[in-house]
Amino acid sequence: MDKRNRFNPESLMMSYGYKPELSEGALKCPIFQTSTFVFQSAEEGKAFFEVAYGLREQLPNEELGLIYSRLNNPDMEILETRLKLWDDAEDAAVFESGMSAISTVLLEFLKPGDLLLYSMPLYGGTDHFIKHFLPKIGITALGFLPTQTEQDIAQIIESSGKKEALRMIYVETPSNPTNTLIDIQMCKRLAEKYSTGDERVYVAVDNTFLGPIWQHPLKHGADMSIYSATKYISGHSDVIAGAICGSSEVIGRIKTLRTFLGNMAGPWTGWLLMRSLETLKVRMDQQTQNATRIVEVLQSHPKVEKVYYPGLIKPGTRAYDIYKQQCLAPGAMVSFDVKGGEAEAFRFINGLELIKLAVSLGGTESLVEHPFTMTHSGIEHEQLYAMNITEKLIRLSIGIENVEDLIKVITTALDKI
Ligand SMILES: *Cc1c(COP(=O)(O)O)cnc(C)c1O
Repeated sequence: MDKRNRFNPESLMMSYGYKPELSEGALKCPIFQTSTFVFQSAEEGKAFFEVAYGLREQLPNEELGLIYSRLNNPDMEILETRLKLWDDAEDAAVFESGMSAISTVLLEFLKPGDLLLYSMPLYGGTDHFIKHFLPKIGITALGFLPTQTEQDIAQIIESSGKKEALRMIYVETPSNPTNTLIDIQMCKRLAEKYSTGDERVYVAVDNTFLGPIWQHPLKHGADMSIYSATKYISGHSDVIAGAICGSSEVIGRIKTLRTFLGNMAGPWTGWLLMRSLETLKVRMDQQTQNATRIVEVLQSHPKVEKVYYPGLIKPGTRAYDIYKQQCLAPGAMVSFDVKGGEAEAFRFINGLELIKLAVSLGGTESLVEHPFTMTHSGIEHEQLYAMNITEKLIRLSIGIENVEDLIKVITTALDKI
């Protein structure tokens, strides 16, 4: 039986998919810093190309060799083999950034005339690509809010006058920075409702905030689980990378476009991410534990008005049902409103020791930022207010530091407001 079915992913991250005998017995996978690969014979080169270019199917026992690092490279392929284990996916594709993964998905599954439905708020780069690039190639996009019900969203689709053109539902859950949740199974039901004949509506989920450990969108009907691997997967704030997990059919299409856009992850990125994957589970465990403690402290502090954290969602609400259904833990992204406005928020941020002020998230170090004037400043104020993103909102990405130290610096900075 394949090791994949006998062991948990965290037990396989150190060795799965790598054969030491092919690399002089090296325990760890080397960095294959090469642009191209040597064929043993002309016949072999011909055979590799026949399969790579889809001129024929791969034979049952045929071992395929490497051709050129834009198509395949051991660091990229072994990384993909490991990454897909977390989402229990048939295949995975890795990219040089989260944005290159996202834009490749949108370009592959949408064409001129199509309609895209997306959840709000989305990551700034994704939002920009949807609102400013897709219209140039004739793709219409409509957003919905986490507070809207399945009926409300169906109504948006119906009244667009383009329901036959719906081709993708793209969601981010939990959302950045307020941790609102979108029901993935609901998205799947809507996708099925609006699929026609052989034209399917695909469901894509940006799983950067809780995945790949705490949320598995494919299990809930999504076709793609997309990552900014820059965040938790890398986890050390030293790499920009992206990834997508899904079925062989979906990833096959994505990899074909990736070959021609040329935005695959290079060997060095692949090697760094393999190293990161070895500690992914322990990092995310510790980050979540630290975040849970910090949330308790924030909640009882007199200078804090409201805390936005999945672990605080009240039973009996729709959000709670979604949380129980699709999230395995609350994660380590914590947002909160200070009492006051921008001045009070800035005083807190400037008064923090140890925690650096920087955008990005998911790394071993804790970071703080002010979404209203930083990551989300490109969005109209009216829209931001509708999503509870205001001047008093602070976003924290919790790292693996000693939690008592984190509590000390956070309470000191709050007291100083
Ligand atoms: C950072 C981020 C992205 C973009 O990823 P890059 O690696 O910076 O290109 C997309 N989605 C979410 C949720 C992110 O946090």
